[in-house]
Amino acid sequence: MDAGKRLPPQCGGRANTRNTALLGQGNASEGCAPAGGSRRQGRFRTRSARDTVPGGTIPIRRVAVIGAGAAGTMAAIFAASAGAETVLLERTRDGGRKILISGGGRCNILPARVDERRFVTDSSPNTLRKILRSWPLAEQVAFFERELAMPLEEEEETAKLFPVSNRARDVRDGLLALAARRGARFLSGTTVVGIEPAAGGWEVRREGDTALVADAVIVATGGLSVPNTGSDGRGLAILQALGHRIHSTYPALTPLVAAPSPFAQLAGVSLPVTITARQGDRAAVSSGGFLFTHRGYSGPSVLDVSHVAVRSRQEADTGATLRVSWTALDEAGWQAALRPAGARTVAGALRRELPERLADALAGVAAVSPSRPLAQLRRDERLRLIAVLVRGELPWNGDEGYRKAEVTGGGVSLAEVEPRTLESRRHPGLFICGEVLDAFGPIGGYNFLWAWATGRAAGMAAAREP
Ligand SMILES: Cc1cc2nc3c(=O)[nH]c(=O)nc-3n(C[C@H](O)[C@H](O)[C@H](O)COP(=O)(O)OP(=O)(O)OC[C@H]3O[C@@H](n4cnc5c(N)ncnc54)[C@H](O)[C@@H]3O)c2cc1C
Repeated sequence: MDAGKRLPPQCGGRANTRNTALLGQGNASEGCAPAGGSRRQGRFRTRSARDTVPGGTIPIRRVAVIGAGAAGTMAAIFAASAGAETVLLERTRDGGRKILISGGGRCNILPARVDERRFVTDSSPNTLRKILRSWPLAEQVAFFERELAMPLEEEEETAKLFPVSNRARDVRDGLLALAARRGARFLSGTTVVGIEPAAGGWEVRREGDTALVADAVIVATGGLSVPNTGSDGRGLAILQALGHRIHSTYPALTPLVAAPSPFAQLAGVSLPVTITARQGDRAAVSSGGFLFTHRGYSGPSVLDVSHVAVRSRQEADTGATLRVSWTALDEAGWQAALRPAGARTVAGALRRELPERLADALAGVAAVSPSRPLAQLRRDERLRLIAVLVRGELPWNGDEGYRKAEVTGGGVSLAEVEPRTLESRRHPGLFICGEVLDAFGPIGGYNFLWAWATGRAAGMAAAREP
């Protein structure tokens, strides 16, 4: 979509009745007024913050949303729905690129159930909970099903919700279309390089283009992960320059590397496991899919604990310890499974519970021959095997970083925003939402849950007169 154009008809580019009345004067109206003075003007209609409508004069809030990802598009929907003259600024050509690649192209839009304790933040968990509870899961589901006419379906084995169409594109396009129907203007291909408080509002500076003036600004620029989707951390730098406290950022939900990998021959093998990562006081446990890759390990369980490993590399001399319980059997269960039974071998017992190649590899790690009959297994061998199977240490020495991280850990401290409105405590009229904030959740729709909830709260609040 070209910069400065209304959304095309397939995106439903129709302003709502109220905003048509407010915006339908002059040409090339872009929703927010240009900055005055020496800056280039002409593409934006200069307007006052008050316009006349039949029956009197009402204030029109001009809201600039920076970043058309999950959080920013939701913010634009709610700001425009509340009557604000809303412009959505996006550096890529189309916006919402993380939505497009989410859930393997299916978009795991929400979790089927929420366990708030699974979110990770260096800020106050209480503040995080307050923010999350502002838009409960059931209401979010209802929003997608009613407002976007997008039925959702639970994938039972993972407790994830997907659109019935299984098309992430439907989610991205549906949200942008709704923002347009509610009257928001979409300016794509425009990079915001700075925001500054201006008389009674904000000046939004753009690369190679006019600056805009708005009464309120919403920063929804995302984190640093998968930079080719458009989020490169500039929003964080902008917010830091305005005095906000930023907790150190780090890649999260990212695969781990073991090079050279002792398990390289297992690449492609997957199974459900329970994995624990621990470094000092920091620990994370996850049960779920585990995948051997050519370079190390991936799968939901690995991604969910990866932040502990990543942070141990950033902060400590020694890396986090990863331990895996390879099956659902505990110590007693394996004692029973390794009891002598006829001519059964170690490999025979292990292969009943594990993929064949992994069973043999784990016997090797325990320094026990797979072909050894259980009847001949010595006590020390049995104990070594059980230790490997129930709490085996997983060697690793790196991570795939932001290139493959699904989210960014750290970000703007939650103490910097008012939890109900997400307004900056330092700068009235500035709102912050989505991944740029210091919070992320596990695999399973939790990160969109956060983006939708924070985007909505910021959008509604930014549209209100102070
Ligand atoms: C491969 C992958 C799969 C994922 N799958 C899922 C999933 O299935 N379920 C789930 O819950 N989560 C998933 N996530 C995480 C989820 O996509 C993010 O948590 C979420 O998109 C964050 O939303 P956001 O709006 O805060 O940031 P982003 O989606 O990153 O959006 C930020 C937007 O701001 C724009 N922008 C940045 N800087 C500027 C600037 N200076 N000027 C103008 N525009 C700017 C960017 O171009 C971008 O469009 C996945 C992530 C990845 C990478």
